[in-house]
Amino acid sequence: PSSPKVSPLAKIPASKRVDVEAEYAKRSSEKAKLNMVVIGHVDAGKSTLMGHFLYALGQVSDKTIKKYEREAQKIGKSSFAYAWVLDETGEERSRGITMDIATNHFETKSKQFTLLDAPGHRDFIPNMISGAAQADVAILVVDATTGEFEAGFDANGQTKEHALLVRSLGVQQMIVAVNKLDVMDWSEARFEEIKAKLGTFLVQAGFRKSKLYFVPVSGLTGENLVSRSADTPLNQCEPFLIYESRFLDQFEPPMRPLDRPFRMAVSDFFKGGIGSSSGVSVAGRIDAGHVQVGEQVVAIPGGETGIVKTMQVNDETANWGAAGDSCLMTLTGLDIMQLSSGTVLCTPSNVVPVTSHFEAQIVVFDIKVPITSGFPVILHHQSLNEPASVVKLVAIIDKSTGEIIKKNPRHLSKGSTATVRIKLANRPIPLETFKDNKDLGRVMLRKGGETVAAGVVTQILSFGS
Ligand code: GDP
Repeated sequence: PSSPKVSPLAKIPASKRVDVEAEYAKRSSEKAKLNMVVIGHVDAGKSTLMGHFLYALGQVSDKTIKKYEREAQKIGKSSFAYAWVLDETGEERSRGITMDIATNHFETKSKQFTLLDAPGHRDFIPNMISGAAQADVAILVVDATTGEFEAGFDANGQTKEHALLVRSLGVQQMIVAVNKLDVMDWSEARFEEIKAKLGTFLVQAGFRKSKLYFVPVSGLTGENLVSRSADTPLNQCEPFLIYESRFLDQFEPPMRPLDRPFRMAVSDFFKGGIGSSSGVSVAGRIDAGHVQVGEQVVAIPGGETGIVKTMQVNDETANWGAAGDSCLMTLTGLDIMQLSSGTVLCTPSNVVPVTSHFEAQIVVFDIKVPITSGFPVILHHQSLNEPASVVKLVAIIDKSTGEIIKKNPRHLSKGSTATVRIKLANRPIPLETFKDNKDLGRVMLRKGGETVAAGVVTQILSFGS
């Protein structure tokens, strides 16, 4: 017998219930919150640039920087001191590579940014995907020195791949930091050359020209980053990463799907609670809707329910969280065995579909071997990666008009847009159409360590169809 639907808020006394939409509206009158990802080829200077910036903003103490400078000198790499602000583990330091997504916060006049640092090394792209999946805006760092811009921009460089990745993950607004111009004597010709080449590519990749901001900088000296470059042809340029930054302030805040059913894709979980030993804790970003302490949620797949006991939102204790928030919460009544990477927490009355077969519209990247029916891939969805294959090529589509160019194509070559059917090899996963959920409706296809395509879910197909 079906029992009448009980509100997920039933366990919370009426006096303690939070009117989340009203609270959210209050919060929205405060500074808009944006997540920013820093991308670019390895050694482009991402860590140095962001480290210098955070230092200049006062986020890092003089004492810490002095310590980093001493340590860096000891190993003969004094220029690494700023980069260490972002690279926190010893292994990363000795290799000089940023491996994980370290988060940092900073503010401008009208915005609050959470900085998701992205690794530049090729092997680390899967990590970057999970960071970029949370990004609203991006900074693309390119090395302007002779030969280095070109190396990052060629077929094996990550400049293009990263840009395509963030665009296909929904990032529409981007600052392009043309970096290391100190080495190039602040050559205006070099800056314009890079701007023209990269600009053409980025527009082809689907960015709008008006949403791209090119700035000449040196992350090392800080010129045009936090101070104006002196005596150079480019000295008219406004420093971009400063508190009053016109560049950072003109990023438009994203629309958060607050009125949609609650969804939170779990990126991490562990036994024990925040500040106590009972319960299980889960971390992730709220993709849609909202949740509050005392509310009942359900873990999909599995369907096991739990009650939210305590929460931290954007690193602070809170009693509610909403779409766009990074959230750590402790749940009671939920067995940790019911959680796995890829779990999505939902509201009990409306849960995310679970499927192993779906239709997607994809953009094919710079690939050497065309995609044919049966093509095996690793499917990246949120923080999950699963073996899958492209089982059917439905149609090739005109990127600008959306019209079908060719039905049942035999293969898909680089640059094409197409509708395909994808089947997971091992297990079904929670997945939604892009129309229903912009975060849970995106996928990335990789093969042999390279990204071959990215796209959006257009239809959930039932098993075996
Ligand atoms: P990442 O791999 O993109 O994070 O790059 P890093 O920040 O680790 O920098 C790579 C190398 O370039 C380091 O040796 C830095 O000192 C150097 N570097 C970074 N930014 C600049 C810059 O603006 N000018 C100069 N001359 N060197 C820089």
